[in-house]
Amino acid sequence: MENQVSLQKSGRARADVLEELKQLHQQDTKWHDGRAFSLVYHESDEHTEFLKQVYTMYFHENGLNPGAFPSIRKYEAEVVAMASRLLGGGDRAAGTMTSGGSESIMMAVKAHRDWAFATKGIRNPEMIAPLTVHPAFDKAAHYFGVKLVKAGLDSGQRVDLEQVKSLIRPETILLVGSAPQYPHGVMDPIAALAALARDHGIGMHVDACVGGFMLPFLKKLGVDVPPFDFSVEGVTSMSADLHKYGFAAKGASVVLYRDQDLRRFQFFVSKDWPGGLFASPSVTGTRPAGSIAAAWATLNVLGEDGYLRIYRDLLETMKRYRAGIEKAGFRIVGEPVGTVLAYESPSVNIHVIADLMEKRGWFVDRQMNPDSIHLTITPANAPVVDRYCLDLAESTEYARAHPELGGEGMAAMYGMVAKLPDPTQVNQFLYHYMDQRYQT
Ligand SMILES: *Cc1c(COP(=O)(O)O)cnc(C)c1O
Repeated sequence: MENQVSLQKSGRARADVLEELKQLHQQDTKWHDGRAFSLVYHESDEHTEFLKQVYTMYFHENGLNPGAFPSIRKYEAEVVAMASRLLGGGDRAAGTMTSGGSESIMMAVKAHRDWAFATKGIRNPEMIAPLTVHPAFDKAAHYFGVKLVKAGLDSGQRVDLEQVKSLIRPETILLVGSAPQYPHGVMDPIAALAALARDHGIGMHVDACVGGFMLPFLKKLGVDVPPFDFSVEGVTSMSADLHKYGFAAKGASVVLYRDQDLRRFQFFVSKDWPGGLFASPSVTGTRPAGSIAAAWATLNVLGEDGYLRIYRDLLETMKRYRAGIEKAGFRIVGEPVGTVLAYESPSVNIHVIADLMEKRGWFVDRQMNPDSIHLTITPANAPVVDRYCLDLAESTEYARAHPELGGEGMAAMYGMVAKLPDPTQVNQFLYHYMDQRYQT
């Protein structure tokens, strides 16, 4: 029954289509009940209603042309300015908003590539990033013709500095560290990486997609956060996602540069198009104005006190998850700094645990190297912490009593993937998965 869907001659009634949407929507993961641990960042029903109101006010406007919509220009400039001051950039740092972390990262890589070509004539640029770095860097490398060299980790999942040092070559244009990285919520040694970059006269990007709108507030709450932002000399660019821990609407991130001169290399302009003079800050052409306005509105409505309140609660929730996870016999991977963590097991197959937790209605993020389960804690996860920890303890007991489960479900697939003699087979599998995804 494939590929039978085609545009119907006459349209359906809106009420009819809405009804179908509602029914399909009900089958999705219940993030509102705290059943997912990433993907959705919901602060409160009140805030979400506010975001919808702002977003729909700017539903049709286009962020591409600020000439037509001066209010959007103001919002974007102010969001960038607020982010810059929050992240140690003061008046000097410059940036733009983008559609998300991936686009911010792509832009930072492109800007450094063009900077290195213009100032040093480097034609075959390379960058060095930790093994744990977000795949958006692999994507940026692939799209923009920059070679990405991965550096290994220490036992705490932080990048190994000696390895980074040994990988620097005359073609290296950029070092990357995460604050914190997504898989385990662990911080790379940003200050040491930045010092290396400065010594070699190259760029240093801090991926604070997770931490950009979290770490500044944790610091104020007394958490021991190592220096990670523009206050560290040598940091030349940063990415920080508003649509994650900024609690804005989706489609909002900022990319920041040490100064305007470096940002210049991000822009794209064209003077010869019959459609007129064209200037665009980033990858996208048309830009949804709703997400820009919603980001501005969020920063204004929360203020520093709002974020402090959110993170005071989230740290408490994090503590309770940690306690329950450790009590059930699991180990936290590395030393997470904020409200993102992963746990592994010294005695049971974690992928079996993942299968059992999914049977109990949790959406589980499985990870490999080390085999672990990822948690990004958001306010929605607070009311269900006891339920989660109880389910985890019971699932662990069940897994202990049923060793045969390792040969079933997703656990069997992860077991197979780990044993494949040719790792490129996994890519073939993923390509196949993507083709399947678009079957109707
Ligand atoms: C989410 C994330 C990204 C990518 O951001 P998107 O908004 O999903 O494109 C990059 N880096 C880190 C550390 C992230 O957590």
